[in-house]
Amino acid sequence: MQLVGKDIRVDEFGRGGQAYFLSHFHADHIGGLRKGWRHGPLYCSPVTAKLVGKRLGLDGDLVRTIEPGKPLKLRLGTHDVSVRAIEANHCPGAVMFHFEFGGRRVLYTGDFRLDDNIRREAAECADVDLAYVDKTYDDPRYVFPPLDESIDRVLGLVGEHMDKEVFLALYSIGKTRLLRAVVGKFNRPVYVSAETQRCYRAMGMESLVTRDAGVTNLRGYGRGYFFKYFRWRARRHRKTHTVIIPTGWALDAEEDDPHGYFYVPYSEHCDYPELCEFLALLRPKKVIPI
Ligand SMILES: [Zn+2]
Repeated sequence: MQLVGKDIRVDEFGRGGQAYFLSHFHADHIGGLRKGWRHGPLYCSPVTAKLVGKRLGLDGDLVRTIEPGKPLKLRLGTHDVSVRAIEANHCPGAVMFHFEFGGRRVLYTGDFRLDDNIRREAAECADVDLAYVDKTYDDPRYVFPPLDESIDRVLGLVGEHMDKEVFLALYSIGKTRLLRAVVGKFNRPVYVSAETQRCYRAMGMESLVTRDAGVTNLRGYGRGYFFKYFRWRARRHRKTHTVIIPTGWALDAEEDDPHGYFYVPYSEHCDYPELCEFLALLRPKKVIPI
């Protein structure tokens, strides 16, 4: 997304910007950022800054942190720009950005799930001129339980299968609340890939995960793993393996799953009613889906 001519870039890292903003450290938002990138100052939350520094090796002098609730003032060309970060209730470090410049107000949500803080912020930002909005589940059939309820359902399933190897579909960054709840309840870390461990180490949460498969029966892999490499193993080892897939796409998956996996609706994006509620509070003059 580009603002103030092309001076401000959000989740977009080609040449030509004066100030770059990163909403969160997910692959579909960091395209173009890599070691050696030097197109301009990069603003992000403190947690995202740690990931950018340690996982991408970006030069520290380019990375500037913006803390939620502490507005940042920038002078870009002839424009004074005020930027505010808002916690996005998505993965660790995820924020929205609210920009004010030349009498215009623009909100960029990045990925988010509605919570009370965002409700309050949306009401405060009401009548923005333009909103770039995460509409991942923009369809009335997507209605998710609250996150706490989803977490309880996963904890219940894990508890019923603790005599087996329990495989959970996780991300390198994200579903962290779920991971924390599982580790807390069953008092053991989750075995993950080396890449996921590096991300958790960068975020300062390394105690939640391990590379030693012998100390835990809990396994965390990306969702793709279960559909590409794991299917045959899962069929052969149903008595000793349980696969739990917490996902917003659970509604689509359950209809004809041949693998015997357990699907739990769990999402760090808004469901459809939350998206409608958010837009009703924000009353943007124009919306662009992201
Ligand atoms: Zn995301």
